[in-house]
Amino acid sequence: MQSIVEETSEQALFRQTVRRFVEDELRPRAREFDAAGRIDKRLFQKMGDLGMLGLRYSPEYGGAGLDWSYTAVMYEELGRADNAGVTMGISVHTDMATPSLAEFGSESLKQRFLVPAIAGEQVSAIAVTEPDAGSDVAGIKTRAVRDGDEWVINGSKIYITNAATADWLCLLAVTDPDAGHGGFSQIIVPTDSPGFRYELLDKIGNWGSDTGQLFFDDVRVPIDHTIGEIGRGFHQQMMQFQDERLVGCVSSLSGSEHLWEETRRWTEERVLFGKPLAKMQNTQFKMVELWTRITAAKALVRACVDQRVAARDATDLITMAKLFCGRVSRQVADECIQLHGGYGYMKESMAGRAFVDSRLISIGGGSDETMLHYMARQLGF
Ligand SMILES: Cc1cc2nc3c(=O)[nH]c(=O)nc-3n(C[C@H](O)[C@H](O)[C@H](O)COP(=O)(O)OP(=O)(O)OC[C@H]3O[C@@H](n4cnc5c(N)ncnc54)[C@H](O)[C@@H]3O)c2cc1C
Repeated sequence: MQSIVEETSEQALFRQTVRRFVEDELRPRAREFDAAGRIDKRLFQKMGDLGMLGLRYSPEYGGAGLDWSYTAVMYEELGRADNAGVTMGISVHTDMATPSLAEFGSESLKQRFLVPAIAGEQVSAIAVTEPDAGSDVAGIKTRAVRDGDEWVINGSKIYITNAATADWLCLLAVTDPDAGHGGFSQIIVPTDSPGFRYELLDKIGNWGSDTGQLFFDDVRVPIDHTIGEIGRGFHQQMMQFQDERLVGCVSSLSGSEHLWEETRRWTEERVLFGKPLAKMQNTQFKMVELWTRITAAKALVRACVDQRVAARDATDLITMAKLFCGRVSRQVADECIQLHGGYGYMKESMAGRAFVDSRLISIGGGSDETMLHYMARQLGF
């Protein structure tokens, strides 16, 4: 495995901790998680105890105060857990639903929601997508109306990861329909609030995670559950998406590399026409092509991580990396399933699962077309 980061001895030590967690707690139970169709909440408690849930967050709130390179190390290892759904559920909690709270949340909000999230006592989810608005984030309709010291929330969200597991949601809602991009706010909604309910959805892949539709029927939360300023939610969510996308790049790429290694092993063992599949030129050429793509994607992701470590804006690079990693993951899965023949089509094979799991990367967290649309504008088209 070629690491995305140039590793220091501290990072190597941290990698060992994550690897042990993956080997002891995740990989042996990977198929059990698939069958359950939802993430085991106790995993968060264990990860909290190991200090894995707040790597970049301030020690004041229980975090480790480390830079982005440690997040990269962690997701390189979690990407090899043999269960993309579980890795996704964990990453939603660590890097998709909590960054805004850590960056913009009030002191009391951080004490009430970030501290237990980092400790693994509470699980979070990010609720942006709606039945009638996904790529068009500004088209969401879920409405929070002020009533004294409370928001009254009505609407629905769809395809939400950790729907059944989450203790609270980082919700993006419309708070002023006449204010354009300034009319949205991020609000923390505890999932035990009266008027909230969810229904689980049946996915074609990523079986180890619970994905659902959320319903808000006059859900009341205090106004001080707003993350940052009222009306800044759209901008804050756009910033939060950057961590989401980069974590997705790291874990998907690492999963692709893991699949490549497994496929190599398979082609060395599988004998056809009197010789191992790996000795056929077609196999070697395909494997080299895939390795080249993985290596190129890693270079791009490394550049993103370096920018994040240096606290520079990496939006353009992350956008291109999200697009590229999604495509590389799909190509790797497609070629690897082919090299496995019929076994690749079995649910138990890593290639078969990767084939459906990797399809999500070009859709979730902003689709390929959303990345293309953004970059076309950046390039002046
Ligand atoms: C398993 C899973 C987990 C998810 N988890 C979460 C979660 O935790 N929280 C959350 O908020 N959301 C989540 N999502 C939702 C995900 O982010 C959205 O599905 C995604 O943003 C796309 O939105 P959409 O599904 O509404 O598709 P649409 O926006 O309806 O897109 C339909 C098609 O139009 C294309 N398109 C988009 N923009 C353009 C354009 N400018 N030009 C041309 N074509 C375009 C799209 O790429 C796509 O091909 C999850 C989705 C899945 C499947």
